[in-house]
Amino acid sequence: MQIYSESDVDTDYLSDKQVTILGYGSQGRAHALNLRDSGFDVVMGLRPDGASWAKATADGLVVKDPASAVQNAAIIAFLIPDMVQKSLYEAVLPNIAQRATLLFAHGFAVHFKQVQPREDLNVVLIAPKGPGGLVRRQYEEGHGVPCLVAVQQDTTGDALTLALAYAAGIGGVRAGVIETTFAEETETDLFGEQAVLCGGATELIVAGFETLVEAGYQPEVAYYEVMHELKLIVDLLHEGGLKKMYKFISDTAAWGDMISGPRVVDKNSRATMKAILDEIQDGTFAKNWIAESDAGMPNFRRMLEEDLQHPIEKVGAELRGRMDWLDG
Ligand code: NAD
Ligand code: MG
Repeated sequence: MQIYSESDVDTDYLSDKQVTILGYGSQGRAHALNLRDSGFDVVMGLRPDGASWAKATADGLVVKDPASAVQNAAIIAFLIPDMVQKSLYEAVLPNIAQRATLLFAHGFAVHFKQVQPREDLNVVLIAPKGPGGLVRRQYEEGHGVPCLVAVQQDTTGDALTLALAYAAGIGGVRAGVIETTFAEETETDLFGEQAVLCGGATELIVAGFETLVEAGYQPEVAYYEVMHELKLIVDLLHEGGLKKMYKFISDTAAWGDMISGPRVVDKNSRATMKAILDEIQDGTFAKNWIAESDAGMPNFRRMLEEDLQHPIEKVGAELRGRMDWLDG
């Protein structure tokens, strides 16, 4: 494994170069403000009629339309939703300088060939392992969120140096930057969010809630047990791994964990995880998600609405309303 830290990075490497950021959402805002505060020359490329334009201007950034913003850029960061990267790339391509660098925060569009970069361009990945809000907050506190770096095309010979300087500018090098490939980042990221972080965790919570409520327990008590308290456990794991969790939970909880955990995540669950990974690797997941996006996301909207109508959401909103220390 190759991991880069501050001594490996030439942080001044981008000091005379323009960095253009397309998109002002979760990652876009964090990268733009961190790079600006690190002394970089940042230009935002945003839709003139979009809501982000006013927000970025109010934050003191230089804002142009995407086609104008890419014109003098040495690095162009595509921090817009994965499904719209292809059309925006094609729209701004005529204005992108020869031998500029395209930067992505997730490899989806490039790995699944939605974006097929011009041959003269560098193509790099800086993927923070955390949401944009955290990327900004950690930077402001003098820390950083760890990142992955990958180089897909290196026509200028310094693509890695450029990518690492960018990672330093957003604070990522403070926590270490691990070298990967577009394929590894894309496939592991999709698997993680589907099987464990988002899909796996929410299904586990909802199934636990339904099991308790169907057995006649109060929904409020079930909510505290399976959703509210999860944060305490995740914090222990995040800070100190399994060891810290086992140290802080009771012996009864640890015994129950070891006896019952493998019954919930059993051979079937593991076989399903492998099937999910296979569909990511062979492109089935990407093909279906692109088709869903092209169709205007009808199933996405329906399933999201169903999730948000679940009784755990109603009881959760009521209980969280009583905890004024939570920022909902
Ligand atoms: P987002 O949905 O938060 O932001 C999207 C922004 O893109 C909007 O604010 C808008 O400014 C712009 N935009 C939306 N549609 C557009 C269009 N049709 N044309 C032009 N601009 C448009 O996006 P995000 O979650 O920050 O994701 C950006 C990239 O970062 C993606 O590749 C994503 O996979 C990656 N990423 C996200 C996270 C995360 O935590 N959100 C973490 C790591 C990597
Ligand atoms: Mg779910």
